[in-house]
Amino acid sequence: MAKVLDGRTVAAEVRSEVASEVAGLRERGVPVRLDVILAGDDPASITYVASKESDSEEVGIESRVHRFSADVTQEELSDLVGRLNEDSAVSGFFIQLPLPEGLDPMPLISSIIPAKDVDGLSPESVGRLAVGLPSLLPCTPHGVIQLLMRNGIELSGREAVVVGRSNLVGKPLAQLLLRENATVTLCHSRTRDLPEVTRRADILVVAAGKREMVGAEHVGEGAVVVDVGIHRKEEGGLVGDVRFDEVEPRAAWISPVPGGVGPMTRAMLLHNTVMAARMGSREQL
Ligand code: NDP
Repeated sequence: MAKVLDGRTVAAEVRSEVASEVAGLRERGVPVRLDVILAGDDPASITYVASKESDSEEVGIESRVHRFSADVTQEELSDLVGRLNEDSAVSGFFIQLPLPEGLDPMPLISSIIPAKDVDGLSPESVGRLAVGLPSLLPCTPHGVIQLLMRNGIELSGREAVVVGRSNLVGKPLAQLLLRENATVTLCHSRTRDLPEVTRRADILVVAAGKREMVGAEHVGEGAVVVDVGIHRKEEGGLVGDVRFDEVEPRAAWISPVPGGVGPMTRAMLLHNTVMAARMGSREQL
């Protein structure tokens, strides 16, 4: 029977570390504030932002949400990004995606200075990660690494296979695994004979966004399996990219959905906010 990679427990540990760091920074007069840009009325975005606000509050981080209607212009958002970059009271900020139709997120994300880029998704942050310079790390991939390392799972020298090559998850995760000295294979929709590749993995991370796509035939005996996928079931509740019941008997470790990577993603945003606060409003990391 596989051991469970319990994201709720590890995320609680991260949040408690963040809370004591926030308290220490405040004692030294350093502001710790997370700002969010939220445009439009996408219900999922509104829910995500509300949970990020309550997470922040729990660990003592001040949060501000800049709300706009769906007809906000690119210029208005661009002006706000400029102001938040300059404002020394703001430790870090992010733009909640997706933006309403007609708005282009990339120029906005690109103009966030790396020291405040708490999502770690700007081309500059991504480039810094790729060349080994300090940067704020994207929350989901960093959450996956922390979930593995804090459970004592060795990464160095091991075969890591990632399914999915998105800018949000797969590509930065491959960089982080490489940084931890894993031997990394990155799979995508054109990968030939996926099960043959994934069965070689000591560590298999699935971020394909395809409900219960990965089954026993994809997993080697004794593998560590991390499921990043999140899908809402019609009957309520969540399910991942992995067929948990089928894979669990083969795996040494497996992350559940819910309660695996999701809580880690949220915790790493708080961690990044503290890192950003420590760096103050300096433009360089
Ligand atoms: P994307 O849709 O942006 O990327 C999916 C990737 O999976 C693509 O690279 C695609 O390949 C690849 N892929 C799709 N189908 C297959 C297949 N049959 N075989 C091999 N590769 C395949 O998704 P994201 O990376 O944004 O998200 C992935 C999942 O993770 C989603 O379910 C999302 O909801 C979830 N998620 C969870 C988070 C959390 O906190 N737990 C945070 C972020 C995302 P190609 O490039 O060739 O199209």
